[in-house]
Amino acid sequence: MRSKIFIDFHTHHDRQSSDLINLQTLHVTPELQAESLPNTCSLGLHPWFVQLETWEAALANLVDLAKLSQVVAIGECGLDRNIDLSLETQIAVFKRHIELAEELQKPLVIHCVRAFAELIALKKNTKSSMPWIIHGFNKKEEVFQQLLKHDFYFSFGAAILSDRSPVTQAIATMPQGRFLLETDDRNDINIEQIYDRAASLRHISLETLQTQLVETYRQLTRLG
Ligand SMILES: [Zn+2]
Repeated sequence: MRSKIFIDFHTHHDRQSSDLINLQTLHVTPELQAESLPNTCSLGLHPWFVQLETWEAALANLVDLAKLSQVVAIGECGLDRNIDLSLETQIAVFKRHIELAEELQKPLVIHCVRAFAELIALKKNTKSSMPWIIHGFNKKEEVFQQLLKHDFYFSFGAAILSDRSPVTQAIATMPQGRFLLETDDRNDINIEQIYDRAASLRHISLETLQTQLVETYRQLTRLG
């Protein structure tokens, strides 16, 4: 893998470029087929779209699809206290992703809204050995430090572009090897902007950041 490339670790958009690894994330339904998967992707049941009637069937499909080599991560999946679906159901669905990640030795990409205590408890109780990467992280310093202590990884996106965001400090001091970058569902920004901003907050060159994040990506996804 070359080192002067950009990695968009979590995006809902299809974008192709010779210097980009575009990790497109797809919500799995019972109908999703292997033929419609992008070259590099992450698959899971997003808590927003989990339906009581269909999630078991969607999960069975995920178990099949996730074995494919282009699926480099499991997710996004996770917990969200701002939605109607009960946290109990969300935890049940999320636990199945945790098991699958473990079985396939692929990292978990996590969506978490106002449920960090539950997330930390799950990580402790399941004793998962795979990396748990919280995507779109944008919480205050105390939460960040606590998650860091519990060995979580992070993927930072548009929030770091804002001077008011609490994560600009986090990314400036973040240990190397613990984070990646993303654009998520935004199509008004590109991953190059996020890289430029992260490099400047960390006082390193773009090239150095690129080399470091390729290394992080290889470690997290166990790709050569
Ligand atoms: Zn997303």
